[in-house]
Amino acid sequence: MQTIRGFRDILPEHITLWQKVEREAADLFESFGYREIRIPILEKTELFARSIGETTDIVEKEMYTFEDRKKDKLTLRPEATASICRAYIQHKLYASEPVQKFYLFGPMFRRERPQKGRYRQFYQIDAEVFGVESAYIDSELIFLLNELFKRLGLTGLSAHINSLGCPECRPAYQQALLDFLGERKETLCTDCKRRIEKNPLRVLDCKVETCREALKGAPTTVDHLCEACDDHFKTVRASLIRQGVDFKVDHALVRGLDYYTRTAWEIQTTSLGAQSAVAGGGRYDRLVEELGGPATPAIGFAIGFDRLVEVMDQLGTKGEEKALDLFIVPLGNAAMDLSYHWSCDLNREGVRTDTDFRGKSMKALMKRANKLNARYVLIAGENELKENKAILRNMDTKEQTDIPVDSLVTDLVNIFK
Ligand code: AMP
Repeated sequence: MQTIRGFRDILPEHITLWQKVEREAADLFESFGYREIRIPILEKTELFARSIGETTDIVEKEMYTFEDRKKDKLTLRPEATASICRAYIQHKLYASEPVQKFYLFGPMFRRERPQKGRYRQFYQIDAEVFGVESAYIDSELIFLLNELFKRLGLTGLSAHINSLGCPECRPAYQQALLDFLGERKETLCTDCKRRIEKNPLRVLDCKVETCREALKGAPTTVDHLCEACDDHFKTVRASLIRQGVDFKVDHALVRGLDYYTRTAWEIQTTSLGAQSAVAGGGRYDRLVEELGGPATPAIGFAIGFDRLVEVMDQLGTKGEEKALDLFIVPLGNAAMDLSYHWSCDLNREGVRTDTDFRGKSMKALMKRANKLNARYVLIAGENELKENKAILRNMDTKEQTDIPVDSLVTDLVNIFK
């Protein structure tokens, strides 16, 4: 049996980098007042169709959707924002405290064509803030990404930001764009011809060369912002500059989801080939209301965890494998019984201890101790036990000491304190 296409195992030898990222991210987010949230992987299909947008690639082509035995239409979550909004509304979190800051780690599912940096089950690190309209929170989120990547030692990343305007200014922009595209319609790809009808902004980020060519000189959202959106975007830029966060304004950045308003951004890398986005985010001030909650400004980002780890791998970043303090080598049945109890007692006292219950030879068990990177080995041989002692061997210095069985746990706890 094999994993299904686009799904993969992340084995223990690779997990230390994932854990390092999780620790750094949780530390950083919590220090800014974000709290972890865990939500279901399965939701009603309607939640994603309504929030992400019926005409987006995700909803049109990529969701894992099925009917359960009661004919309910369910979907494996393709992203986390919609579900977090649902939780915010369902539990009336706005009533206790309108400002809520969340973070989340977890798997998402999209049926895209698998390639390097693109999987059908992939992981995201999300952060979302509800109830803050101010542009400073946009800057805070971009700052957090920048700071996290810095702490993880990542280089070669660039932040692209744009403003998509709001329902006040977007219609005029959309019209200007349609006028521009109308004259060039014939040179656009078939997807874009369809997008013009349904969702013209999406044409801006088409990757097809002829479309990119046709879009040269296209009107920009930033030139069509209303005064409030313009002020908002100015504050975002100024506060990023003041905190030393590098970015560039990218007029082609529209992001693939319908719900974004005002600030949208992506963090890109050149080291992953075609899959250049390591993180993306944006403001979605109307989504909570559209999903049945009170009008609530909101904003968030998602980091592609798999891609982040791949970039770190390329940079040679290592996770931390916590070594064992002690590996007990039991020789004979009586020794095995003692070893089991010593191992429980020592671990209970905080000494990281493992042993082996297969009755293998000294040579085989020393090999295993080496593989496990144990700092010390305790040899419980039959002859030694007859003399009521075991031998403690320092694996670095090869120095050996006798430890009396009667006070073994206390003696070892003292040694490892
Ligand atoms: P999105 O919600 O599409 O902006 O996704 C946010 C981030 O998740 C992207 O910037 C990617 O780093 C990552 N991501 C999205 N789709 C995939 C995928 N199929 N495989 C791996 N990472 C992905």
